[in-house]
Amino acid sequence: MNNETSREGILFVVSAPSGAGKTTLCRELIDSFSDLRQSISFATRQKRESEQDGIDYHFTDPETFQTMIAQQQLAEWAEVHGNLYGTSLETLNTAAGEGIDLLLDIDCQGAAQLKKNYQQGVFIFILPPDYTELERRLSSRGTDDKNVIQRRLKNAEQEIVQARWYDYLVINDDFQSAREKLIAIVTAERCRSRRTAHLLDKLTAKGDK
Ligand code: 5GP
Repeated sequence: MNNETSREGILFVVSAPSGAGKTTLCRELIDSFSDLRQSISFATRQKRESEQDGIDYHFTDPETFQTMIAQQQLAEWAEVHGNLYGTSLETLNTAAGEGIDLLLDIDCQGAAQLKKNYQQGVFIFILPPDYTELERRLSSRGTDDKNVIQRRLKNAEQEIVQARWYDYLVINDDFQSAREKLIAIVTAERCRSRRTAHLLDKLTAKGDK
């Protein structure tokens, strides 16, 4: 429980197909709220040059990851583009207990697992405006060859079907507008009456009038 807010931390789970702009939008959200923390996942993929272990991911080997699965240390995990990614239970439990709001940038398979056990979580899906624009964005990165782009586009079709069960859909056609919508979602969710009932208690307590 957070002493200032007197409530449990909220899980904000964000998914999107590759190329929809999720990473940049998540970074903007973290920069916009000093009290919103990014969950750091475990991942078996190679660290990129720009990344730091313990900051971008906890980079780990497949054997250690399998042990974490066997010991039920993960709240969710999935294989994405041939690598394993997962969120540790400890990360979620610590944040919930301390009243810290967490932002999870995870794929649809992992989000679906969390939806079962964390029904109070807020599930947000970021959509590209259309497939032509998605293909243009994937190509303009200049990092992937044609086959990889085609595979990512195919995956995107399957992921977008999943978007239906999310609580919020945000179309990233205009970056500023998508950013403002995400900020509005976080702000509104924090004001939900079921999370702010303690504020009423204060105002209705005897002797406080
Ligand atoms: P990247 O390797 O490009 O950083 O991430 C690839 C994909 O893995 C992204 O869609 C990202 O959201 C997803 N991902 C990152 N961390 C996790 C995690 O802990 N669990 C799951 N299920 N997916 C993750």
